[in-house]
Amino acid sequence: MPTVQVRFTQPRSAGYPILIAPGLAARSGAEIKRRYPRHGVILLSSPRVHGLWGKVVEASLKRAGLALLGRHLVPDGERHKTFGQYQRALQALARLGRGQQAKPLVLALGGGVLGDLGGFAAATYKRGIPFVQMPSTLLSMVDSSVGGKLGVDFPTPDGLIKNLVGAFYQPGLVLIDPSLLKTLPARELRAGLAEVVKTAVLFDAPLFRRLETGAARLLKAEPALLGAFIAACAAHKARVVGHDEFDVKGERALLNLGHTFGHAVEAASGFKLLHGEGVAFGLACACDLSLSLGLAATRRAELDRVPALLKRLGLPVRLKRLPLAKVLAAMSQDKKFEGGARFVLPLRLGHCRLQALPDLAVPAFILASRFD
Ligand code: NAD
Ligand code: MG
Repeated sequence: MPTVQVRFTQPRSAGYPILIAPGLAARSGAEIKRRYPRHGVILLSSPRVHGLWGKVVEASLKRAGLALLGRHLVPDGERHKTFGQYQRALQALARLGRGQQAKPLVLALGGGVLGDLGGFAAATYKRGIPFVQMPSTLLSMVDSSVGGKLGVDFPTPDGLIKNLVGAFYQPGLVLIDPSLLKTLPARELRAGLAEVVKTAVLFDAPLFRRLETGAARLLKAEPALLGAFIAACAAHKARVVGHDEFDVKGERALLNLGHTFGHAVEAASGFKLLHGEGVAFGLACACDLSLSLGLAATRRAELDRVPALLKRLGLPVRLKRLPLAKVLAAMSQDKKFEGGARFVLPLRLGHCRLQALPDLAVPAFILASRFD
């Protein structure tokens, strides 16, 4: 049969810088203008974040001489991470970008919900328009704004599945201003710290020690200190996604440390637990699982520092009893679960590996022993 092979000589996405500095929001216009001198900007944000930080950002765009074509606000909260809101964002892009010669640029100012939804709109409108992430929660600064995974939650016959519909599409620039965290509720800040702890357990024992010594100051949201931790996490995430843009080599799967347990309790709690709270609990469970499988036999004292640190950061490592059947059902429904039970397990601080399990018997035991 005549066959024509399509070959690509370039990796799909160009690289992009992640700038991290307290006060950056007030200079965001200049940074965008330097890279995108000819694009009009459409600001996507949420009512809360726009109310707190919109003025600073919009004034900066104006000072830089960028045209602000308009703004569209997506309601706050995971329950609005829907296809309907995605469609409304697309309609806003079509309306606000009308009559422009160059494609508009999307500036997504907000937490992970806004970044994922707004980025998905940017990825698909006119098959992709320039997109800048300006994350405003700690979770989005250390995790969701880097790596180009975008999307919305979607209902299926088996229930609502998170991030079921989406795309891989990288931003052209990520602007992180840790000062934005001054207005973030303390509970959301702590939830973001769970992902910082996750990164340290995965890749970086010295970072873990810095978390132990800095715990009290971290909870005060000091921008300079947080900035240093954000930079370390962003660098780790950038390295991993740089090797595995489309999540096919297993490297990105490591980033799910704590997430199999975490997603399951998050879902079984009816999403009363924040994602980061589920991840904290999941990190404690992952350490237990590793120890009970004998993967870290000589490292018990080291792994015990993980739940101890999480507790000091005000994160849950034990939970009020949730129905185990519900948690296990959520666990086996997790879309990351296809092809068998796979867990990311710590071998010691800074080193983890993927481990396949034949079934959920041991994880079920571990879960039950962390319920009060
Ligand atoms: P979020 O976006 O819902 O924000 C949490 C709350 O904080 C919201 O009510 C928001 O309005 C408010 N807020 C945001 N910034 C604020 C600020 N500076 N001051 C005061 N309030 C502020 O939640 P999140 O934790 O940022 O993100 C969670 C989402 O991220 C989930 O949908 C998850 O699926 C997604 N996520 C994506 C990736 C990825 O790789 N794309 C990775 C991790 C998580
Ligand atoms: Mg996460």
